[in-house]
Amino acid sequence: KKEIFESTKPHLNIATLGHVDHGKTTLTSAITHVLARENKAKSRKYEEIDAAPEEKARGITIKTAHVEFETDRRHYALVDCPGHADYIKNMITGAAQANGGILVVDASQGGQAQTKEHLLLAKQVGVDKLVIFANKVDLVTDNEMLEIIKEDIKELLKKYKFDENSPIIFGSARKALEENPGPGEPMGHYQKVEILGLGKEKIRTKVIGAEMFGKILKVVKPNYDAALLLQGVKREQVARGMAVVKPGTINIHSKFEAQVYVLTKAEGGRHTTFEDKYSPQFYFHTVDITGIVELPKEVTGEKKVVNPGDNISLKVKLIQPVALEVNNTFSIREGGKTVGKGIITKIIE
Ligand code: GDP
Ligand code: MG
Repeated sequence: KKEIFESTKPHLNIATLGHVDHGKTTLTSAITHVLARENKAKSRKYEEIDAAPEEKARGITIKTAHVEFETDRRHYALVDCPGHADYIKNMITGAAQANGGILVVDASQGGQAQTKEHLLLAKQVGVDKLVIFANKVDLVTDNEMLEIIKEDIKELLKKYKFDENSPIIFGSARKALEENPGPGEPMGHYQKVEILGLGKEKIRTKVIGAEMFGKILKVVKPNYDAALLLQGVKREQVARGMAVVKPGTINIHSKFEAQVYVLTKAEGGRHTTFEDKYSPQFYFHTVDITGIVELPKEVTGEKKVVNPGDNISLKVKLIQPVALEVNNTFSIREGGKTVGKGIITKIIE
């Protein structure tokens, strides 16, 4: 008994496109594999897809594999062909009647001869909506290389009269296929991050690779001293003291209340007292930022000064906002020398 096809979602026919070995079949398999976790596809192995059955379309034999899946918004039938000749025949005969395509480009190589040929043909037969999957980013360690590939892809899209601003997704189909990607996300669909602080504009990007001590990290945890490969971020855009955070979880602030201990002379601290509007550096994680101290009324009204060895609650206004949270600890420094320690008890602004 056959299953009844039921879907309230709009249906789209799409096809993979791209140069041989750039990863079309691996991506097709990975899409079903990842969506199968949410019951939106039946997971299809690479070997099942690659052994495409022969079809007779208008008297011509074409090998095509059909894969079905759905997303939150649409239902899809995806066609993947094993060989270049099959793609050509498929497109010319219109066997797949594709409404759009996924152009797969090996990010370690950029567009190649068949990439161009497929773009030309797709345009001619009216497949003019594309998304681009820049695959094999696991092979690329240089961020600038990815920028170059992105520009190369945009140029090709323009040349063949496709929308230059078609989505370009960087990833690794093979990594996304790995059965047990570990406790984090598989490399194929990255965790999104925000980079913020120091008064610079918030950068929204994706981590597309991570290393620590020269080894590849599958998961990056708080306090790791890791090197991150960030999609589309230039060196000049980031500075020491900015924070990489999960979007929407932490904000930048410039004023807070803190409980502070002022080191004594014997502990290497100040030899003298300080007053309201004292302006040392505040060291958070990786950066020194100048701040102005606001002492509580009890102190300004009576004692007027804070002595080495005092434990006191005070307010701090930083000259530049940084990513902060309650319970973050910091050091108070003067010319690189630690003169106090503190913990944030309340964020003011
Ligand atoms: P197709 O000819 O475009 O269908 O390419 P395939 O899907 O057959 O992939 C060609 C080769 O590239 C295979 O050996 C894949 O395992 C490999 N490959 C696919 N995706 C990735 C990837 O993300 N990273 C790496 N390193 N290799 C990949
Ligand atoms: Mg293939």
